[in-house]
Amino acid sequence: MANKKVALITGANKGIGHEIARQLGKQGIIVLIAARDEARGKEAAAALKSEGIDTRFIPLDVTREDSIAAAAAAIEKEFGKLDILVNNAAVAIDNGPPSKLDLAVFRRTYDTNVFGVFAVTKAMLPLLQKSDAGRIVNMSSGLGSLAQTSDPAWAFAGVNLLAYNSSKSAINALTVQFANELRNTPIKVNAADPGYVATDLNQNRGHRTVQQGATAPVRLATLPADGPTAGYFNEDGVVPW
Ligand code: NAP
Repeated sequence: MANKKVALITGANKGIGHEIARQLGKQGIIVLIAARDEARGKEAAAALKSEGIDTRFIPLDVTREDSIAAAAAAIEKEFGKLDILVNNAAVAIDNGPPSKLDLAVFRRTYDTNVFGVFAVTKAMLPLLQKSDAGRIVNMSSGLGSLAQTSDPAWAFAGVNLLAYNSSKSAINALTVQFANELRNTPIKVNAADPGYVATDLNQNRGHRTVQQGATAPVRLATLPADGPTAGYFNEDGVVPW
């Protein structure tokens, strides 16, 4: 079993996930760059390697059970455990009000953002249970907060994307349910809101950098033993559910 900590970050070939991998790698953690596309994943891992980070590419499409099982088997074989899981991969593919949303788009969004997170978490849990300090970070969004999105005065209340926003509300619920199940174990499960970050997800319209966006998830991925579980945090602190 590896002495160093091992972290798996899904959708780590670009955007906030790539930066989370970089920041964890800079802390001496072995980072597994999970990506669905081999060329993009290998290139992303090579970029971090050139910065002196101990990293590997691991093929992982979060919508495919065979891919998830193969990734878990590969991690088991090489490391015998997993210390950190960052469920970062997501899509944002709806762009109109709820009444204009295609059912197929709704389903595709949930396949990645909700069922993908569930399936990866379930498959990786036995490996996280072999760590003495397992941490699960689910990338949520401020748009998943019902407290915020139901307030017309909230800065992003106009972003009324049923598929994406509700997928992140579901992730918040998933976070709490897994955290409750694991409360009497060393594993902590929290949701992270990175803020509005310039990435391909929003055609680079966000006003925050990936470095800023990675701050909250990296902190949650490296929480001490007395840190919180079943929480929802951004860089400034607690986000209302
Ligand atoms: P991004 O640049 O579009 O990156 C998304 C990543 O997810 C890509 O690596 C993408 O891979 C991957 N992905 C999508 N579907 C996948 C699948 N089926 N299997 C494996 N990987 C898959 O987006 P981002 O802004 O960095 O988003 C990262 C996380 O932060 C997401 O959970 C997002 O919802 C959340 N978030 C972002 C913002 C923001 O303002 N950017 C705000 C709040 C929350 P490909 O390159 O192969 O497509």
